[in-house]
Amino acid sequence: MENKINYYKKSQQILDEIKKCPAKPTLLLHACCGPCSTFPLKFLCPHFKVTIFFNNSNIYPLDEYNRRLEELKKFLTYFERDYGHHVDLIVTPYDNENYMKDLEPYKNQPEGQTRCFICYEKRMDQAFKYADENGFDYFTTVMTISRQKNSQKLNEIGIKLSNKYKNTKYFLSDFKKNKGIDEAREMRIHYDLYQQLYCGCKYTYENCLIKYKK
Ligand code: SF4
Repeated sequence: MENKINYYKKSQQILDEIKKCPAKPTLLLHACCGPCSTFPLKFLCPHFKVTIFFNNSNIYPLDEYNRRLEELKKFLTYFERDYGHHVDLIVTPYDNENYMKDLEPYKNQPEGQTRCFICYEKRMDQAFKYADENGFDYFTTVMTISRQKNSQKLNEIGIKLSNKYKNTKYFLSDFKKNKGIDEAREMRIHYDLYQQLYCGCKYTYENCLIKYKK
């Protein structure tokens, strides 16, 4: 069995170094929805000046995309009120048709395989590029909060991209660890955030329709 790297421990080691800095570094955070942003923002904002990058053309249909974006905006308002951290939000144009072209050859795969790894990397690459071109000190993604997403793979992709975009460092993470997943759940319930029933793409949407019609 492959040895799994403890990315939660790695994130703590980075934070230990950052605590020695006189000013907060900037961090661009890829986020896919409100519920997945809850605990990562609570974890990161005491140490970084965080900006969220919402580039999620994987989400289908458009109504669902808009709903997830609106929930995220609602949460950012609550988060500033209750935690005292203002978080800027950058939203890229929605283009599901073009986005899906790279994923289509893998449409019959179950969740968690090649299609998803391509999907992680497409969004992380675009966000990391933006961070690099716009002078952010760090980049990371909220996706390691999810039990359905492969944190080992997400961090491997982040490390690979940090060799491509050299002005910005990748912040290693596994937000779900050390009860992060429980805190995210509690925050989602506390703020009454909409919890989607499927990951995002039309393949998972169609499976969800079949499942809930039964
Ligand atoms: S299941 Fe989620 S991660 Fe996988 S391809 Fe669909 S939207 Fe992307």
